[in-house]
Amino acid sequence: MKRVGAHVSIAGGVENAPLNAREIGAKAFAMFTRNQRQWHSAPLTAVSIEAFRNNCAEAGFLPEHILPHDSYLINLGHPEPEKLEKSRQAFITEMQRTEALGLVMLNFHPGSHLNLTSEEESLGLIAASVNLALEATSGVSAVIENTAGQGSNLGFRFEQIARIIEQVDDKSRVGVCLDTCHLFASGYDIRTPETFDAMLDEFDRVIGISFLKAMHLNDAKQKLGSRVDRHACIGKGMIGEEAFAHIMRHPSLEEKPLILETPDADGWAEEIRMLYGFTGE
Ligand SMILES: [Zn+2]
Ligand SMILES: [Zn+2]
Repeated sequence: MKRVGAHVSIAGGVENAPLNAREIGAKAFAMFTRNQRQWHSAPLTAVSIEAFRNNCAEAGFLPEHILPHDSYLINLGHPEPEKLEKSRQAFITEMQRTEALGLVMLNFHPGSHLNLTSEEESLGLIAASVNLALEATSGVSAVIENTAGQGSNLGFRFEQIARIIEQVDDKSRVGVCLDTCHLFASGYDIRTPETFDAMLDEFDRVIGISFLKAMHLNDAKQKLGSRVDRHACIGKGMIGEEAFAHIMRHPSLEEKPLILETPDADGWAEEIRMLYGFTGE
């Protein structure tokens, strides 16, 4: 079965995320593990963790269908040692929160070189950051998201993601989440079944299909190769409905979280219904 969901709110506590996801007919979901605009948050309470687990079980969400997303403040490739350390500590904390919730993946944006160091150096720092986080936790995989390549953000080419994975010691705990808007913005054409499959073949050649753990389903406001990260609602952007219909029928994407990060949260229930309409599920 296809596992479509959305990045839902944790307002009032992480335990509300599975309830918010169920309400929109989701069969997967993403969430932040804490307020993503702040460096520090209070630790999760035992009551909150217990409620989260119970709500997930009641709504039928398994850990492999839940993809928490780290804070946008974190830059695991930061070229300045003090700031890198701050990011690493925050990332380790988020990996630990993910583990405490009984979840198995944490989605993160690789990082930025900020034009202060080389791409290669920054990719090495990112891999070293992942190694530290994996050592500090158990059972949670670090899931790298491809980016649109805005500014000095790394991870917009499959080769860059492969370079990170190559330097991660425990390859059983690293994966990739492909964001359709970011793919398109970074120059991977996925508009037709043929181009989408060619992209996936390239992913398999450069990274390896076994590393693909999830997708973010977003249409794109800007044109192919724009390097601009602006999400659009499904079928209302430059990618178009055909690509998403193809994704919904694709055998390689069974049981993987397919998460909407589209701009209109009030439209998610309808978008989820529309996507399932493509499969008959
Ligand atoms: Zn995304
Ligand atoms: Zn984005």
